[in-house]
Amino acid sequence: MFEKRQFYINGEWVDPVHGNDFEVVDPSTEKSVAVISLGGEQDVNAAVDAARDAFADWMMASPDERIQYVQELITIYESRLEEIASVTSLEMGAPIDMARTQQVPAGAWHLKNFLRAAKAFAFDRPLDDHAPHDRIIYEPVGVAALITPWNWPLNQIALKVGAAAIAGCTMVLKPSEQSPLNALLFAECVDQAGFPPGVFNLVNGDGAGVGTQLSGHRYVDMVSFTGSTRAGTAISKNAADTLKRVHLELGGKGANIIFADADDKAVKRGVLHMMNNSGQSCNAPSRMMVEASLYDTAVEIAKDVAENVQVGMSSEGGRHIGPVVNDVQWKKIQALIETGLSEGARLVAGGLGRPDGKDTGYFVRPTIFADVTNDMTIAREEIFGPVLTIMKFDTEAEAIAMANDTDYGLTNYVQTQDGERANRMARALRSGMVEMNGTSRSAGSPFGGMKQSGNGREGGVWGIEDFLEVKAVSGWS
Ligand code: NAD
Repeated sequence: MFEKRQFYINGEWVDPVHGNDFEVVDPSTEKSVAVISLGGEQDVNAAVDAARDAFADWMMASPDERIQYVQELITIYESRLEEIASVTSLEMGAPIDMARTQQVPAGAWHLKNFLRAAKAFAFDRPLDDHAPHDRIIYEPVGVAALITPWNWPLNQIALKVGAAAIAGCTMVLKPSEQSPLNALLFAECVDQAGFPPGVFNLVNGDGAGVGTQLSGHRYVDMVSFTGSTRAGTAISKNAADTLKRVHLELGGKGANIIFADADDKAVKRGVLHMMNNSGQSCNAPSRMMVEASLYDTAVEIAKDVAENVQVGMSSEGGRHIGPVVNDVQWKKIQALIETGLSEGARLVAGGLGRPDGKDTGYFVRPTIFADVTNDMTIAREEIFGPVLTIMKFDTEAEAIAMANDTDYGLTNYVQTQDGERANRMARALRSGMVEMNGTSRSAGSPFGGMKQSGNGREGGVWGIEDFLEVKAVSGWS
């Protein structure tokens, strides 16, 4: 078990003011693997003070200068990929190959996309041809608190740190207490990249402590949060007294609408996408909606695919899925599977308990429910585990109504070979993103949701703009 109790404040590794030990657990073995400290108010104040002190110089640095620091960060981060992948896998349960090929590279990918966007962005420009003496200046919001989850930890950290740094914000990162080790390595990379002291600070802690202290802090100008809708609501309320800008990336309950003319890989692709990262993705296509004439076939394919998904230890190489992150999530998923059964959904694969041969570890059986209706709890609540619900529809209008009948609005998916229909669907679906026929969104495309999935956009130029204020100046000479 290794000890990582320090925080990164003002360019130095410092001890917590009052130690409050917290054990990091390997979800594959249920054993403690590291101990960190949860911070308190004095640690938060020190980090916010450092960020405040660093702000004036960082804000006045040219965008090119800030871009150089991020470029250096990417080089260092990529050189430490193996090390970062191994702690990420250990603490949150992503199988090691998946951590190497998806979890960690996602961070570098976002940082690179920010560089491309920033180089093309006019941070300072005339209003328009008709008003040459009016100037529009984009300047940083100020001190940003960055609060991130454990499920795609480096993806989220990079999306926030990269955008904030390029915009000219200084920041305090509070990663999830469930996955702090990768964030500590990320902070080491920032340190190695030579960022000026105070621009980036990290304080570990939980939501009730450091998270709440940051979201209510008088000298924090903005909170950028990714996590549950529950915490997003609490943060918004706590930030209201000081009228902070609050950027939220929350949960989802994405529909994957499969028409009868979809390509023949559509169902399999949908199931595998759902199971990736053990179902712990906010944009998981968790409600599969299938046109009536394809429905029975789709259920059979889904059953077959789910039964062939292997579940294994995060330390083993291969394409299996790992455990879910912790005991709380495991129990929540089990309770939702039980609710699915009691509300009358038809279990076609997986179900309650651990997979065969697994007595310890937070492993969940890849589970498929068919004959689900949109009013059932498992169709409405984010399960955040490898559990897919399948529903039937008859018409395009019915599919749109069902897909939109949810509190969430993050990503919806459409599978059809009729291009006009696909485009109609893309316009009608109420979500921040729509992905069609297995085509991923490209580099620099904005990520974010509507309704209770949040209000911010991360990635590319939109991600940078979220950390910027617009200043209008007249009489510019
Ligand atoms: P969580 O909301 O419990 O925790 C996320 C982070 O917020 C952690 O750092 C936690 O310590 C902190 N936190 C918790 N309560 C807080 C509070 N009251 N005040 C301040 N901070 C608080 O979520 P989780 O269990 O870590 O992550 C899973 C959730 O995140 C899922 O709902 C998932 O859909 C969502 N998520 C959304 C996106 C997105 O971009 N939309 C991405 C990843 C995860």
